[in-house]
Amino acid sequence: MGRGGTLDASVLVHFTNRYGGVSVSPYATNNLALHVKDNPLHVKENRRLTCKALSLPHVASMEQVHGTQVRVVEGQCTQTYPACDGLITKEKDVALMVLVADCIPVVLYDPKTEVIGALHVGRAGAFGGIVPHAIGLLQSTFGVEPSSLHVSLGPSIGGCCYEIGGEALVTAQKEFSTYLDGRYLNLQALVQDQLARLGVVHVESDAPCTCCDGRYFSYRREGQTGRQAGIILQRSESGK
Ligand SMILES: [Zn+2]
Repeated sequence: MGRGGTLDASVLVHFTNRYGGVSVSPYATNNLALHVKDNPLHVKENRRLTCKALSLPHVASMEQVHGTQVRVVEGQCTQTYPACDGLITKEKDVALMVLVADCIPVVLYDPKTEVIGALHVGRAGAFGGIVPHAIGLLQSTFGVEPSSLHVSLGPSIGGCCYEIGGEALVTAQKEFSTYLDGRYLNLQALVQDQLARLGVVHVESDAPCTCCDGRYFSYRREGQTGRQAGIILQRSESGK
């Protein structure tokens, strides 16, 4: 269904792929997004199966808008947070889920303050500064020090396939030319450098290109398609 690991005994990090669900083409099979015109009953079943496989007690997700808004999750409610692209929380047993099909699913954990976060970082979010915004909010809200943060970047479109044009290309040429190879943008490198400049040293990215690799949903390759997820959860000791 995907790959994952543990940053810490009590912290689950997981990136799903397109396998293990019940959706049919072009969403086959584990589409976790309700907004892409898939059969909602299939999406609900996919979410149920994913929650079961990973033992997720509660899941908070986002109505993502390619912006820079980051919200703080409080309480153990299962809900979709409106108009935002990042969630951070100290709550235990609440999984944070970010949905993507080429954008970078970014999950993070701070062992010192026991805070987790999930960010949706596409080109617009990265250019707009969601990464520094999120790190700033982690500092001001929870006293997180960037140097103790552990950040994982999941599968996303690589510089091999991410050709951009129009205003995006003009902005990239002006402000992010280091990450351009002709018209091809290396978004992962950009985000990794943004993190490094903020003082984040523990960053892992073992991420195949979603557009090259058929195991993943890719908006660029397929247009109408599903969404995979980046998931992070901090379990309480009772592990309910
Ligand atoms: Zn590629």
